[in-house]
Amino acid sequence: MYLAKEDRYQNMIYKRCGKSGIRLPVISLGLWLNFGGDDPFENSRAMIRRAFDLGITHFDLANNYGPPPGSAEETFGEILAKDLLPYRDQLIISSKAGYDMWPGPYGEWGSRKYLVSSLDQSLKRMKLSYVDIFYHHRPDPDTPLEETMGALDFIVRSGRALYAGISNYSANDTLKAAKMLREMGTPCLIHQPRYNMFDRWIENGLTHILQQEGVGSIVFSPLDQGALTDRYLLGVPSGSRVGMNRRFKPNISESKIHKVRMLNEIAFKRGQTMAQMALAWVLRLPEVTSALIGSSKVEQIEDAVKTVSHLEFSAEDLERIETILAG
Ligand code: NDP
Repeated sequence: MYLAKEDRYQNMIYKRCGKSGIRLPVISLGLWLNFGGDDPFENSRAMIRRAFDLGITHFDLANNYGPPPGSAEETFGEILAKDLLPYRDQLIISSKAGYDMWPGPYGEWGSRKYLVSSLDQSLKRMKLSYVDIFYHHRPDPDTPLEETMGALDFIVRSGRALYAGISNYSANDTLKAAKMLREMGTPCLIHQPRYNMFDRWIENGLTHILQQEGVGSIVFSPLDQGALTDRYLLGVPSGSRVGMNRRFKPNISESKIHKVRMLNEIAFKRGQTMAQMALAWVLRLPEVTSALIGSSKVEQIEDAVKTVSHLEFSAEDLERIETILAG
């Protein structure tokens, strides 16, 4: 029987999510890859247990995570049933809908029909009565924003989710969505954008809107899918996303890895691993509540969690990082 470590809350830092009552761990774990039906169950289980033991209270899912789509939620449901259900009230579990999930016109994008039925399917797969956060996964150019936000409001009011979130929305759409949700009485808790040293689009307007609207953020792919770690510094390991030639894998062009080598030297001088410095770097922004990592093994989660012991940057370090990133 699994018993969570008693000291699990001692070292993790929990940061307030926007202007809400929720605090999230600064490191959260996502189940996009490596937790599907094609992956070894015991490895997935070991990662979730270790994460929780290290103070990671937030696990991020979506209807389509796997492969095959839906299977990460099934895996997570099984781990919950076996290990974590006694701790349900200590967990923030999220799911999403927006990408292609089933055939026909109601299996993707942003209609009320799709979002509500997709979440009902997700709840069945995880054997849960509610999720803590439900996201619209990507903006829909055709469905009126009023309908999509109305669906999120309905989902929260019906008890299927406690909070609403949006993902991959531009600064402009975020502003509109946050206003609509607030007027409906279901404030937008959180935005989930991509953000890392090589992809800084949120700095051009989105962070300002998040600050202004009191919305938190959890940034995905903070390690650029593994490129911003030491994973590819000595070649391509066979078990990595690139080594396995997975459908989703980081771009590890020579010029990028050249930059990572130089960044790694700064990390070394700071007494950190490359991954830890990349995570601390995204967390330097006050608007970033949590860094949402992926993982293929327990050691990567252990490495990431150690970031909390050194989050500060000197002005010189930040400047040197900027110089390297600018090429
Ligand atoms: P990361 O940038 O954290 O990449 C994770 C990968 O990096 C791991 O699988 C591993 O690669 C490598 N890695 C992680 N830690 C270390 C370490 N300490 N040392 C060396 N290598 C390491 O994030 P992801 O791209 O996986 O995304 C994270 C989560 O974000 C997803 O699970 C999902 O929840 C969410 N997401 C959301 C999206 C959205 O549209 N809203 C889109 C994409 C992701 P390897 O497997 O090769 O070992």
